[in-house]
Amino acid sequence: MRAVVLSDEGLVVCDRPAPTPGAGEVLVRVLKAGLCETDLQLVKGYMGFRGILGHEFVGIAQSGRFRGERVVGEINCSCEACEFCLSELATHCPHRSVLGILNHDGAFAEFVSVPDKNLHRVPDSVLDDEAVFTEPLAAAFQILEQVDVQPKHRVIVLGDGRLGNLCAQVLAKTGCQLTVVGKHERKLKLLSDRGIHTVIVGQFQETRQADIVVDCTGSKSGFEAALKLLKPRGVLVLKTTVAGDHSLSLAPIVIDEFTIIGSRCGPFVPALASLAEKRVDVRPLIEETYPLDQAPTAFHRAATTPTLKFLFQL
Ligand SMILES: [Zn+2]
Ligand SMILES: [Zn+2]
Repeated sequence: MRAVVLSDEGLVVCDRPAPTPGAGEVLVRVLKAGLCETDLQLVKGYMGFRGILGHEFVGIAQSGRFRGERVVGEINCSCEACEFCLSELATHCPHRSVLGILNHDGAFAEFVSVPDKNLHRVPDSVLDDEAVFTEPLAAAFQILEQVDVQPKHRVIVLGDGRLGNLCAQVLAKTGCQLTVVGKHERKLKLLSDRGIHTVIVGQFQETRQADIVVDCTGSKSGFEAALKLLKPRGVLVLKTTVAGDHSLSLAPIVIDEFTIIGSRCGPFVPALASLAEKRVDVRPLIEETYPLDQAPTAFHRAATTPTLKFLFQL
């Protein structure tokens, strides 16, 4: 099968044997897959991953509970036996592998092997182009699992990219007082068209009025920028994973008693429901759909120009 492989030589598209499903795993024939900021960071060295990239996908299950049906899959492959797995911390299982990110081949290929327990059937009303966003949309829903966002809260999302857009759409449904700060008029317009208040970064008055700031900048500077916007005892939600190290003063966190929350993978059920009920619109984010063989072009463009979502069509 054709596959996009990250090797010591960099990113290559090549032929690989189809994966052999492990215990409890089923083969999924990939229909579409999404290119994500994490993929770009992996190419830069994040996690030291080698193998087939890709963790956002929709496909057809070849066996298991959903044989012959369209499915999306959670990406953490946990052991189900350790202390963390038995206490609802399966996404933090120390023995886990993660599709396309850690010790497990991913979905930029004709077939991907996924634990049957990780799969969710895609409702008929959800298009392939929408279902492929389930994983990043679930990550946006994770914020609501971690923070009790209420209508009285002033919330700022930093970043108007793929994840910033999804986080903003999810947060807007809480009725909170939401502002999205970004660098790109075109991307912000996708949100203002949905009635979400947006500001271009140069025109944003930095005052400390936010109860909650969500950093979706994908850059090292996001953390410090976010701290400057928070009220004392405010909450900073970090959705950004950046390769490399930060260096910053921790004193403001102590002085202003900030709460810093790391936020990663989230629940697929509300994500799929919001797509089925058309409460979230992901299709305007799709910029281009590439055949898998053009993956190097897609990666290069995504890394060098301010683009939204690139999909691969299998
Ligand atoms: Zn991703
Ligand atoms: Zn475990």
